Amino acid sequence: MTSDIAIVGAGITGLSVAFHLAERGVGSIVVYEREGIGAGASGVQPGGVRQQWSTRLNCLMARDSLAFYSKLGERLRPRVDPGFRPCGYVFVAHESDTLERLRAEVAMQNAAGVPSRLATAEEAAELVPGLRVEGIAGASLCTEDGYFDRPQAVVEAFAEAARLLGVAVVHADVSGVEPVRSGWRLRFADGTGGEASQVIVAASVDTRALLRPIGVDLPIVAEDRWLFFSESIAERLLDPLVIAVDRHFAVKQLADGRLLASDLSATGDAGEASEGWRGRLQQVVVDLLPRLEPRYRRELAHALGHMSLLRLIERVTGERWRPVETSTTGGD
Ligand SMILES: Cc1cc2nc3c(=O)[nH]c(=O)nc-3n(C[C@H](O)[C@H](O)[C@H](O)COP(=O)(O)OP(=O)(O)OC[C@H]3O[C@@H](n4cnc5c(N)ncnc54)[C@H](O)[C@@H]3O)c2cc1C
Repeated sequence: MTSDIAIVGAGITGLSVAFHLAERGVGSIVVYEREGIGAGASGVQPGGVRQQWSTRLNCLMARDSLAFYSKLGERLRPRVDPGFRPCGYVFVAHESDTLERLRAEVAMQNAAGVPSRLATAEEAAELVPGLRVEGIAGASLCTEDGYFDRPQAVVEAFAEAARLLGVAVVHADVSGVEPVRSGWRLRFADGTGGEASQVIVAASVDTRALLRPIGVDLPIVAEDRWLFFSESIAERLLDPLVIAVDRHFAVKQLADGRLLASDLSATGDAGEASEGWRGRLQQVVVDLLPRLEPRYRRELAHALGHMSLLRLIERVTGERWRPVETSTTGGD
């Protein structure tokens, strides 16, 4: 197949690039994807849209993203509403050093146009019902931040909008890209190939292997991340999304009432370590939110206690993301 532009990878990066280029009418565009739309990390992510970052460049990109997402309905016309919830993000610092870092970041964020601010532990506890004030040095927050309740709908909307603008998404496992006189040649795993004047490689962790043979070595490495889903909780307990920086932990409540948490300290072999991860997760949530009214506390303990309903999602390097149902530990 021949096109003006070839894009490798139909994740959010490849599809967004395809859509924006097609909008500008830069010529024919083909996206080559070896598995399916959103088959990589874009298909299993927590849906967060935040502007509180620690570098100016990330903040500026996040500002632009938010501006785009606030007009998502008219720009992409998604078939399924992705359900953006501007619940706010609260970063809680337990250590004074961490609070100082948040203070410096808020100054940088404000200079980049991000409306974040510092808050005392008491202010944070007003926003997050039940938050334990003791031990918290302070917090930073941005009320414009939030998350998509159905983030997969965002990925599909980019694919559909790009298709409507004439972008072709083709099933092909790209095994190599190489410069030729007319532009670029792509080799596919089945022995066939394609050509394009320009190539954009948006293949996530596989980008490195595709580019290394042509002398470009990008420092992209795979890291496992785990998402924990609790049972559904009827009450809205967590409207701002909470990140406890010193606990390496983030939690939010989805529209269907489930808590979705991630724990950056959860590393190692899932088969051996998952019981320990879930125990720590329960402990961190219960330590953070001890002031909940007793009936909410009971509901929270119940939701977190039924571990058989927690679902881990594992990234296996070189393979697809796959869901792993873990065994029950039961009990409230
Ligand atoms: C709405 C939204 C919200 C998000 N929220 C969060 C969040 O809260 N927290 C967070 O940590 N991250 C979040 N993310 C980011 C997410 O975790 C990933 O970092 C991001 O989706 C990666 O996108 P990607 O396109 O770079 O990679 P991928 O989605 O992995 O896409 C790469 C694609 O390339 C294909 N591919 C690879 N090699 C080849 C090849 N040789 N030939 C053909 N195809 C190939 C793969 O099959 C895959 O489909 C969010 C993303 C979205 C879309």
